[in-house]
Amino acid sequence: MSERKHSEQESTNKVCDYPPDSKSKELKLLTKDPAYVCRDCGRSATSHENLCRPERMFSTW
Ligand SMILES: [Zn+2]
Repeated sequence: MSERKHSEQESTNKVCDYPPDSKSKELKLLTKDPAYVCRDCGRSATSHENLCRPERMFSTW
């Protein structure tokens, strides 16, 4: 099963690509239990894959 979406540019899975005031359900899911934060945008997400410059939120110093 390898169904590809017609365009990878059409659907983003990056929290950074959503507008800050977005009420998207997807965005809610992606930021539900944030463990990573983006160093560029300051957004947070559950997975590092959803940020352009991910960094662990609770990093050991
Ligand atoms: Zn970012």
